[in-house]
Formats: sequence, structure tokens, C-alpha cells
Amino acid sequence: MAFRPMRVTLPMLRATPPTVTVERASARLVRVSLTDRCDMACVYCRPAERGAYLPADERLSVEAWESVLRGLRAEGVRRVRITGGEPLLHRDVVEVVRRAAALGLDDLALTTNASRLAALAAPLRAAGLRRVTVSIDSLDPARFAAITRGGELATVLAGVDAALAAGFDEVKTNSVVLRGINDDELPAIVGWAWARGVTPRFIEIMGVGEGGSIWRERLVTRAEMVARLGALLAPGEGDRDADRGPAKYLDAADGSGRRVGFITGSSDTYCAGCDRLRVTSEGMVRPCLATNDGVALTEEGKAGAPGAVAATLREAWALKPDASWKGCTEATARAVSMIATGG
Ligand code: SAM
Repeated sequence: MAFRPMRVTLPMLRATPPTVTVERASARLVRVSLTDRCDMACVYCRPAERGAYLPADERLSVEAWESVLRGLRAEGVRRVRITGGEPLLHRDVVEVVRRAAALGLDDLALTTNASRLAALAAPLRAAGLRRVTVSIDSLDPARFAAITRGGELATVLAGVDAALAAGFDEVKTNSVVLRGINDDELPAIVGWAWARGVTPRFIEIMGVGEGGSIWRERLVTRAEMVARLGALLAPGEGDRDADRGPAKYLDAADGSGRRVGFITGSSDTYCAGCDRLRVTSEGMVRPCLATNDGVALTEEGKAGAPGAVAATLREAWALKPDASWKGCTEATARAVSMIATGG
């Protein structure tokens, strides 16, 4: 595929994070990487080779997840997103959702490649999952297979249909935009999504994991994405949804109320005000997607001992970089495994 060089100004790279949170009191959102296994191998995410996954006996059990989520909720976490790896490959994903939903969170969402969503959408909805985001980088089957190294577009589209039929509060898509690979598809993806009542979101490739070796040549900035969508969108900078992560949304120009989201992990990082933590499938609490820093949950925490999760949470929160940190453009990001940390 043709490669056209990019022209953007990037922040200086820095080796070590400044520490200590200055603006935020505690975590409000936790992203849970239920498993590091994935049945796709997107070119910007992980190496082509599969395997070298965490041994099954080192992963948190359903009971441990329940204890950990209960402890996090007691510490003020109100929103949980389940991710991975591919969370729908986890044998007990529906049960984890059921137990998380019973905790009375403000939001419970899941990000998936949808390879198993056709079968699982209805059970997940019945278990209490509120919102689903499907990753879909191309509507062309051959391109889709190339980007995901083997993914089947038809299966994913069937998963989106099943999610819509299941009646989730919201169905969104994530598309990582890659220069010279899928950057000509933005209007088509928006048209396809809007026709179904789905909110499309476009993500700048970040220098995390495999992205570390290709992001500079493949990055398409938000400004360029907006230009490519031209008259479809109303002008403006866009707004974040309160309490809902870093995406900024622009409205449709036709006043229909439809929207397009943009996630700018590379051209405009958003560490100031970040209120999220991540928990990996073996029970490591991580303060930032751009470093391998983290604090392991104790056996007491996994077993539900009062206060044990809170102590780990506070330790991990203290490692959170400050507002001057430039997130996924920092040199440390490259060493992070996206499937382990949970995207
Ligand atoms: N397997 C699930 C999926 O495909 O959505 C969940 C995990 S995946 C790591 C979560 C999200 O991270 C996906 O939308 C994926 O496109 C995005 N992602 C992975 N690597 C990325 C990178 N280097 N830059 C930007 N987004 C990335």
C-alpha cells in the first residue's frame, strides 16, 4: 500500500514519568483486562505470533474479580469497562458481567473485536452489560483481514447486528485510522454506522506496543480526519461526554443529533484530568497505559479482605504521572503490551 509521509509536530519524548497526581483525587473509571488472549493480531497492537499468554492458573478467578471490583467500588470507582485481549474469549465473561452489574455501578461497558459477539450479545445484555464498543477498522473484507491478521469482517458485522438487536443503551465503534491503509474509509464508516444508530469513533494510532514501530509513519491526526469528513460534520472542537473517557464528539452537520467521536492519543494527549486505572488479568493495578508501572493486588485483596484492595489502589494511584506527562507519545509506551494492559 502507498505510503505518504506525515507532517505533524510531535511532543518531545521523555524516558521516565514525573510522578504524583496533582489534579485528581482518586480513580473513577477502571478498565479491566479480563484476559490477555486475543484471536486477532492487529498490526498496530501486538506481534503476529500468537501464544506466550499468561498461564490460566495465574489469571484472576471470577470470585477474585468480584472481590476486586467490590473493593474498587468501595473506593469510589463508579464506571467499569471490560476489555482485553479479547474479553469474549474468557469462558466466564457473562458471569463476571453479572457479578459486576450486581455491585450497582453507574456504568458497565465492554470493548470487543466482536468475533464472538453474535452469540454473546443477548446473554451479556441479560447479565447487565449496558454499553458495547466494537473495534472495526475497515468495511472491506480483505483490508479488514490484513489489518487484523486474519479477522473475518462478516462475523464482526453479525456481532454488531446482534448487539443492536440485544438493545444495549449504546453501541459504538472504534476505528484506528492508519495512513495509506484505511484513511480513505472515514465517510463510508460514518455512513454505515449512522444508518444503524451506531456512534463511530476514530482513534489516532498510538505508540503503544506494536504501534511503537509504525505510529510515526501511519498517524493521521484528528485535524486531518475531520477534514476528510468535511461537510458531514458541524464545525467546532467537540465535547467530551461527562465522566466518559477521552473521546471528543462532533455533531452531524444535518442537525440529526448523530455524532462522531475522536480519540487523540498522539496529537493531543489528555493526561490532565485522567481518572482511570487499569487492572490486568493477573491482578496488577496500572496507573497509565504508557508505562509498565503497576502494583500487584495482594492475595488478601483477591480474597475480598476489607481494605486490602483500597491499599493497592492508593499505591497505584500515587504512581500516576502528573499533568505534564504526554501519555502514549512518551518513550516508555513502546514497551507496554496492549493486550495485557487492556487498551
Ligand atoms: N480485543 C478488544 C478489541 O479489539 O476491541 C479489546 C482490546 S483492544 C487492545 C482495545 C482497543 O485498543 C481497540 O479499539 C484497538 O483498536 C485499540 N488499540 C490497540 N492498539 C492501539 C494502538 N497502538 N493505537 C491506538 N489504538 C490501539
